[in-house]
Amino acid sequence: MLKKRPFTELYIHIPFCAGKCDYCAFYSEKNMEETLLEKYLEKLFSHMEENAPLCKVLRSIYFGGGTPTLLPPEKMEKLFQKIRQNFTFEENIEITMECNPSSLTEEKSMVMGSFVNRVSMGVQSFSPVFRERIGRREPNKNIEKTVENAITLLNKNSIFNIGLDLIYFLPGQTLEDWKKDLQTAVSFPVKHLSCYSLTLEEGTLLAEKYITEKDESLSADMWEFAGEYLKEKGFSRYEISNYAKENFHCRHNDNIWKGAAYLGLGPSACSFDGKDRWTQYSPLGGFLAGKEPEKDIVEDETRLAEMFIMGLRKVSGWTKEDWEKVSGGISFDSLWRKTIEKNILHNLLHRKGESLFPTEKGLEFWNDLAESFL
Ligand code: SF4
Repeated sequence: MLKKRPFTELYIHIPFCAGKCDYCAFYSEKNMEETLLEKYLEKLFSHMEENAPLCKVLRSIYFGGGTPTLLPPEKMEKLFQKIRQNFTFEENIEITMECNPSSLTEEKSMVMGSFVNRVSMGVQSFSPVFRERIGRREPNKNIEKTVENAITLLNKNSIFNIGLDLIYFLPGQTLEDWKKDLQTAVSFPVKHLSCYSLTLEEGTLLAEKYITEKDESLSADMWEFAGEYLKEKGFSRYEISNYAKENFHCRHNDNIWKGAAYLGLGPSACSFDGKDRWTQYSPLGGFLAGKEPEKDIVEDETRLAEMFIMGLRKVSGWTKEDWEKVSGGISFDSLWRKTIEKNILHNLLHRKGESLFPTEKGLEFWNDLAESFL
């Protein structure tokens, strides 16, 4: 039923950070030695060459991590050059790099300006107290100044499409504290904000420190407040945790939520070809030794449901046309009419013409909505 499709989006995982933050469950290594970095890049380039024939003209590239801006400028340059050699791009391709503002330098921002056209900056909180509490491993005495300097450097190199990543529901954080973080965030000339509720992921240092009962209703209040406040400031919520000025959605994520086929390179990076998913081996040692990716092969019915609920993270949900492009022409009603009607009755979904989208309640209780289709 489902067919494999050529990749249109590329994700590259840079698996190095200056230190490990207490809340972080992403894969990264603390030690970016020259020889290890060389070996990682060599492997990455060979994977690029192998997989490039499976790609169509790329619509987006995303460098995540880890900390991509930890790469020395000459390595960044080499990485961009290899990508140019191996892939072809759509004319208005979106190229995003995640950036730690304290690791950005004049030279790096110049190199980025030659290739990258969107930056997603990890801030998490502007409050030194909360940054300390969640174990941000970096100097944080004046994060506002650091962010301001980083934005100036990027703007100087023609990168104006900049977003900030924030985390709320931090240990001990009040609604008032969260409001201050949002106020500071919108005072910068940014186009996009990602606001995630802190989840204490198993295996993280923070989960070991805070095994206390959490007031989930406060998290919901913070989410609601963000929606109202940011709307007033010109940022609309377009996905459960993402807000943007008009025409500044993250297109890479937008495409992935809408079922696009993406190629993920680097340890722990995920790929999806329209039918199967797989995750590159991590940690780095095994990845370099050529260990096989972990495959996630499921029945088409399950994959269809997974794709469908991912699209329901978006405020705009699914149009009939977009859905049938990725489902191989099978309508969502023929697959789940009863479940859809039940969710409409419970005010979690809404239908308009041939489109189906989540209500505000559906976004807030997305986990319940998702479960009903699985
Ligand atoms: S939060 Fe970011 S900087 Fe901190 S360890 Fe995770 S990937 Fe690295």
